[in-house]
Amino acid sequence: MTRSEELFAQACTVMPGGVSSPVRAFGRVGGAPVFAASGRGSRITDVDGRQYLDLVNSWGPLIAGYSHPAIVAAVQAEVARATSFGAPCEVELRLAQKVVERMAGAIGRIRFTCSGTEAVMTAARIARGATGRPLLVKFVGCYHGHADSFLVAAGSGVASLGLPDSPGVPSEIAADTLTVPYGRLDLVERVFAERGDEIAAVVTESVPANMGVIVPPEGFNKGLYEIAHRHGALMIQDEVLAGFRVSPTGGWGLQGRLEGWTPDLFTFGKVIGGGMPLAAVGGRAELMDRLAPVGPIYQAGTLSGNPAACAAGLATLELMDDAAYQKLYDIADRVSGIVSAALAREGVAHRLNKVTSLFSFFLTDEPVVDFASASRQDHEAFARFFHAALDEGVWLPPSGFEAWFCSTAITDDDLEHLERAMAVAARAAAQA
Ligand SMILES: *Cc1c(COP(=O)(O)O)cnc(C)c1O
Repeated sequence: MTRSEELFAQACTVMPGGVSSPVRAFGRVGGAPVFAASGRGSRITDVDGRQYLDLVNSWGPLIAGYSHPAIVAAVQAEVARATSFGAPCEVELRLAQKVVERMAGAIGRIRFTCSGTEAVMTAARIARGATGRPLLVKFVGCYHGHADSFLVAAGSGVASLGLPDSPGVPSEIAADTLTVPYGRLDLVERVFAERGDEIAAVVTESVPANMGVIVPPEGFNKGLYEIAHRHGALMIQDEVLAGFRVSPTGGWGLQGRLEGWTPDLFTFGKVIGGGMPLAAVGGRAELMDRLAPVGPIYQAGTLSGNPAACAAGLATLELMDDAAYQKLYDIADRVSGIVSAALAREGVAHRLNKVTSLFSFFLTDEPVVDFASASRQDHEAFARFFHAALDEGVWLPPSGFEAWFCSTAITDDDLEHLERAMAVAARAAAQA
């Protein structure tokens, strides 16, 4: 028995499935999950002393790699002063200013939370509070955290477990969330035509990445913005995953910023906390000022704006200048190119969906444009591909419904390692 297997067996006796978040349990690919011990740069080391090139990076936050010296130093300096205050602190202000400045006029105010789930919950509450309307519109396969209103047709984690829905979500709450297949503006039009005056907001991932990565069709997000506004509803753009990853200004930087429209509310997470528990909701000042203590819409958090978390986020955003993004895009091109070539050499049908640095592979020969087409991938071939890669020292997301996450710490040596590992993994995928 490996130490990972031993720890996992113990974990299963005190934690449901041995994990704190379901996807970590390897449900889709089988086998016992690897227990992580430490990380440095592009590599993670497990409790058995094995090293892996990591293409998950904590599901996105570690955009600069593990234990970047600047981030570690920033966190250590804060922790030496206090782990938490429960009072305003300067590093929190500096991160708020940094994000407002980075988002180039798209937001005027920001409220920090500890998780993306809370950030989206807060955005929905602001939208409902501001419009006085009850309904939300979301897309099948988009994930917005595990709050009741959003655990409806919610993509990867749920999809990976094969749960159609979650017990414990009251049906009357789920009934207030209308779902539409991704990419279908005509169906969004229809939903708004029928119930437009009851809809508070349409919420979407700026680049869907929780059913694998889906490239938004040309004009889709802009269309959502226009339809919502025509009906007096708001648009919430969830940038928890894509924010500060697909561009310095997230998915908005590739779409709205160029096309001249701005969502009413944004949510951020993952990269904004640099690996610490931090997320945020942002929007124009008069909308955000509906939040307490200025306005009546209540939202709070004991650890919100935690100084160590804000320090990690601030150091991460400071590292991610234009040159760092160029490097990240280049690394993502090379990584995805190596994987595509390996799969092609072995004759494995696959589709690469990619938006700058964010991508995923689907083992299928049909275009993947929504949750239904994502679901028709070959999960068994992916499981063989995943385990062969892991054996070869490459840590991939343990489900074909998850995005791959590169960091700027990936080196030329890593890419050579990847090339060797992918040759083996592609061969495994090809074995019927
Ligand atoms: C990860 C994610 C969330 C939830 O964030 P947590 O910090 O896990 O609660 C919400 N929306 C999107 C798009 C995400 O990828």
